[in-house]
Amino acid sequence: MANEFTTLERNILKAKGLADEGIAALQEAGVASRADFQTVGDAETLAQLVPGLDEAVAAKVMEWATGVVARKAADPVGTGPVLVDSADVVYCVHCRTKQPKDYKSGDLCLACGKQAEPILSCYWCSSSGPGKFCRTCGAEFVSTAELDLAVLLRREGLPKEEVPRKLKGMTAAEKDDLWGRVRRSRG
Ligand SMILES: [Zn+2]
Ligand SMILES: [Zn+2]
Repeated sequence: MANEFTTLERNILKAKGLADEGIAALQEAGVASRADFQTVGDAETLAQLVPGLDEAVAAKVMEWATGVVARKAADPVGTGPVLVDSADVVYCVHCRTKQPKDYKSGDLCLACGKQAEPILSCYWCSSSGPGKFCRTCGAEFVSTAELDLAVLLRREGLPKEEVPRKLKGMTAAEKDDLWGRVRRSRG
C-alpha cells in the first residue's frame, strides 16, 4: 500500500493516544502522513473522520501534526485578556495583574508588591479588611464610595444581606435621594 504512515508516525500517533483502529480509520479516510493532517486542518474535523475519537486525543494529534496548539475555549482569539472569569479571580487594584489561583485575601500583589485588594470598611460592624466579605460579620462589602449609603440603610433597619443588594438595584436618582438623607442625618 502506497499510502501508509511510517513506523515512526504510527508510534507517535499511538503515543498520542490513538488506537490501531483509529489509525486504520484515518488511513481509510485518506490520512496517511503527517502532511495529510494539514489538509484535515483541525481537531474537530479529525474527530469527524475517526468515529469515537476522544476530543483530547484529536487535539494532541493535531498539535503534533500541525504544530498549532489548540485554542482554548476560554480564549477564543488566542490573545488579550480572558473575558469570562470565574468570580473568585482577583486582579490587583494597583497594576491590574491577575493574582495566582492560591491567592488569599490580604496577600500582596506578585507584580507590584502592594495589597492586591483594597481594604474596605464594613457598613455592618465597622471592622475593615480586604476581600469581598467582612471577615468579622460576613457582610458583603460595598464600595467605599457607597459606604455611607450602606450605613444609612443599616440604621433604617435593612437586614445585613439586603443592604448590598438594595444598593446594586438602586438608580442614580434613588441614590441621590439617599445621599440627601445621609447629609440630613449628619445634621
Ligand atoms: Zn499589583
Ligand atoms: Zn462586618
